[in-house]
Amino acid sequence: MYLFIFLLICILAIYPYLSLASPSVCLEPSYTTITSEESGPTIALIGSVHGNEPAGAYTLLNLVHNLKVKKGKVILIAGNPCGVAYDTRMNPYSWNDINREFYDSSYDHTARKILELLHTNKVDVIVDFHEGWGWYTQNNLFGSIGSTLSPSPQSFWKDIVPSIIDELNTNLVNEKKFAIRWNMECDTSTKTLQCYAHKHDIPYMLVETSGQNNIQPIEDRIAQDTTIVRYILNYLGMI
Ligand SMILES: [Zn+2]
Repeated sequence: MYLFIFLLICILAIYPYLSLASPSVCLEPSYTTITSEESGPTIALIGSVHGNEPAGAYTLLNLVHNLKVKKGKVILIAGNPCGVAYDTRMNPYSWNDINREFYDSSYDHTARKILELLHTNKVDVIVDFHEGWGWYTQNNLFGSIGSTLSPSPQSFWKDIVPSIIDELNTNLVNEKKFAIRWNMECDTSTKTLQCYAHKHDIPYMLVETSGQNNIQPIEDRIAQDTTIVRYILNYLGMI
């Protein structure tokens, strides 16, 4: 009797993952492109590679329906849609942390597909949307980088990121304001998308809202991500 109850609890606990056992679709990043007739920059927006950081994926979903560009191309990539569905950081099929698998000839199918998309489309800029568990201004001693923008060193960002921060912070109280993290550190063993872009000299920005476990309403985080996207596209003359 007790054994039966124990087994039932075990099966219920893993049931969501059993249903994912066959659909290898979970390994495929979901993506679409929005293009203009006029040539221009190509920008990749990548959302929710960590599935328990959903604001990026929802932001991209809104943009699919609402964004038109005057020139160039925007590639919208939901990096881990099954992870968003199951609220897991990892890809629930491969159980990999995709953002530790970005390197040349990666063995991780999803990371490899994302890199292929970036290279095939010769992207000029990458913006990568994540969510922290706290606020950098309050919790950075404990490692939270929530509410930060971390741009790569190219001068492109130096012109634009302080203005984005000002706009994001307009309606935020002091302890919840966004901050800039300028000094990206990458050694050869770090296999995040940030370090991959650094290695390949592609302008990149890591966006971290304060969002895990819904510490801010999802609407607010989507609004923050959308502000960032629109600011960059506007700066590039794409909208
Ligand atoms: Zn993340």
